[in-house]
Amino acid sequence: MSVRSIVRLGHPALRVPAQPVRLDRLSDVETQTLIDDMFETMLDSGGVGLAAPQLGIDLQLFVYAVIDPDHEDGIDDEDLELRALINPALEPVAGEVIYDWEGCLSIPDLRGLVPRHPAVRIHALDRHGKSLEYRAEDYEARIVQHEFDHLNGIVFLDRMRDLRSLAYSAEWEEFLTTDQDAAAQVG
Ligand SMILES: [Zn+2]
Repeated sequence: MSVRSIVRLGHPALRVPAQPVRLDRLSDVETQTLIDDMFETMLDSGGVGLAAPQLGIDLQLFVYAVIDPDHEDGIDDEDLELRALINPALEPVAGEVIYDWEGCLSIPDLRGLVPRHPAVRIHALDRHGKSLEYRAEDYEARIVQHEFDHLNGIVFLDRMRDLRSLAYSAEWEEFLTTDQDAAAQVG
């Protein structure tokens, strides 16, 4: 496995819809290595999600980590449940949108308040081509919506309804977060 470089805002891969992963290519070493490298790159950069377009790769594929939000202090790798979703589709579950802080590995050092659906139903394949269907809520739903947007050329700035909350992470920590342990979800 290896850590790959993450493209930043301005790279065209972040602004075009990605292509579906061909199912006859899913078991190829190249695709499986890509998935392993995406996990490694995400963990190395301190993110909780990473989409293939963030590596400049035009595929509908993202990885993310499910973290119990009650265990945000001193997370080690064993507390993370890592998931890879291939050709995902999302269906919002009815409910009022929730605003919370997000950041993006492709837009380093910025945080902003982003509205998201409180829960989504996910239809996707896992890395072995098995069908997945499940519901994600709260923290996990936010990560999944952020990463899914990357497969459609959308970044969190596009989702913000008021750019006045945009802040650099140091200033965000100093002035804007009310909870010492709060962490913005970065993906
Ligand atoms: Zn992102």
